[in-house]
Amino acid sequence: MAAALQFRPDHKFSRVGDITPEVLHRLGVRGLILDLDNTLTRWEEDRVAPAVPEWVGALKQAGIRLVILSNGLREKQETVSRALEVPLVRAPLPKPFAAGFVKALEVIGLPREEVAMVGDIVMTDIWGANRLGIRTMLVEPLSPRDFPGTKVWRALEVLFCLRRPCGRKPAP
Ligand SMILES: [Mg+2]
Repeated sequence: MAAALQFRPDHKFSRVGDITPEVLHRLGVRGLILDLDNTLTRWEEDRVAPAVPEWVGALKQAGIRLVILSNGLREKQETVSRALEVPLVRAPLPKPFAAGFVKALEVIGLPREEVAMVGDIVMTDIWGANRLGIRTMLVEPLSPRDFPGTKVWRALEVLFCLRRPCGRKPAP
């Protein structure tokens, strides 16, 4: 894959709820690796966003296999994993390093062509998965707040127009 393409998500959605079982069926996706902070929860909160449990339930009912892969704080990861009854993968190195994605694929137990990564940060979630040939789905972050280090990733997303076409402001 050409270097620049590794930063391009295959698909973009406003929120996880838009990734319906029907959409996944159409794309031939049977498993999702889920980012946590600002994808399933607001960064500053430990509880999952209001519509997320229902969305996860609908996916499970449709037979979609799920796993959480997060660079966040352990206690929060475990709380959310328990609340949603979705297994958590912990890796020795954070995204975008390959180890976590490889482990997540093992837990999901599907060929990588049938798996997609869902996350809100291009430089960790999307780049890491693209490099391994896992399909990628970028969602808008649930909160403007994030780990201080993420500001660097956000600046790069804007600079290289990775999230939206150059010059276009995010919706308020
Ligand atoms: Mg995130």
